[in-house]
Amino acid sequence: MTSHPAFRPRVLTGDRPTGPLHLGHYFGSLQNRVRLQAEGAELFVVIPDYQVLTDRDVAEQLQERVEGLILDYLAVGIDAEQAVIFTHSAVPALNQLLLPFLSLVSIAELQRNPTVKDEIAHSRQAQVSGLMLTYPVHQAADILFCKAHLVPVGQDQLPHLEATRTIARRFNARYAHGASPIFPEPEALLSAMPLLLGTDGGKMSKSRGNAIALGASEDETARLIRGAKTDPERRISFDPERRPEVSSLLSLVALCQGRDPHSVAEELGDGGASALKALVTEAVNEHLRPIRKRRAELAGDRGHLRAVLARGNTRANEIAEVTLAEVTAAMGMRY
Ligand code: ATP
Ligand code: MG
Repeated sequence: MTSHPAFRPRVLTGDRPTGPLHLGHYFGSLQNRVRLQAEGAELFVVIPDYQVLTDRDVAEQLQERVEGLILDYLAVGIDAEQAVIFTHSAVPALNQLLLPFLSLVSIAELQRNPTVKDEIAHSRQAQVSGLMLTYPVHQAADILFCKAHLVPVGQDQLPHLEATRTIARRFNARYAHGASPIFPEPEALLSAMPLLLGTDGGKMSKSRGNAIALGASEDETARLIRGAKTDPERRISFDPERRPEVSSLLSLVALCQGRDPHSVAEELGDGGASALKALVTEAVNEHLRPIRKRRAELAGDRGHLRAVLARGNTRANEIAEVTLAEVTAAMGMRY
């Protein structure tokens, strides 16, 4: 009998080192990463340190924030022995892919990207930098360097995934010359909660002061949820169109407790926002308790976190160099 090596899909995703991971990451992407890895996928996680500079002048506390992200990954159950966790700045060949990829997109396409527009609106910079406008192309390099098949992301990333697919297609059409394509077209994988709202009613984001961090204490979690925006209607109902903030809080309870948000709303009835917030606090703290315990246990061993990253960087470099060699060969850069 012949045995075939099992096909292992490659999954790539990542998070900017701009602060600790929050509930939006957890329900939007981290749960899918853990599940796919458990099902046998090869998991790549990029920590895009250069992309911190898309919306601010200086990248601060990088080492601490990068280690904090690795801690969050391990705490939620990513298997660091198997996963390739790496930083942008440590993988030069990945970054070099940006050059040919930039030649495949127009300035008008870059300016039309709705997520980039939203991030420009929330940027801390007075002027839009070239890095802000081009970062979706940088993300294409992140995804294509390892020829990922699947990208578990939140809703804000869909335009970037589309840009990546376009770049892959255009590169293949221009340089593969009828031979087999160099880049596969990756698929986005959305979760059941692709856009969790923060305490101010906007997208929960590390950089917008509206997030509940996975590593926050139970008291801090209670305080943040108490301050969350709701609406004055006493009767609680699940109606994401008309009542986005209340519905997002109901979804959080539903996700934490494995329930339907309508039934959570019915249970609360005329209890108003305070009863809703008390229930959200209890559900979130309960759900995160084992993750927070694990996080606290792992936090003592910074050396381990750095070793995980060093191993990931080495592996990412090996892969990026092979891909870059294929790309430059296809482009006729053989000297
Ligand atoms: P920043 O404010 O610094 O941009 P962020 O919270 O937006 O931070 P990112 O590092 O930009 O986090 O995004 C990492 C991943 O998490 C992406 O796949 C993104 O789609 C997903 N994600 C971020 N916020 C949410 C959210 N509120 N709901 C669902 N998914 C989210
Ligand atoms: Mg973001």
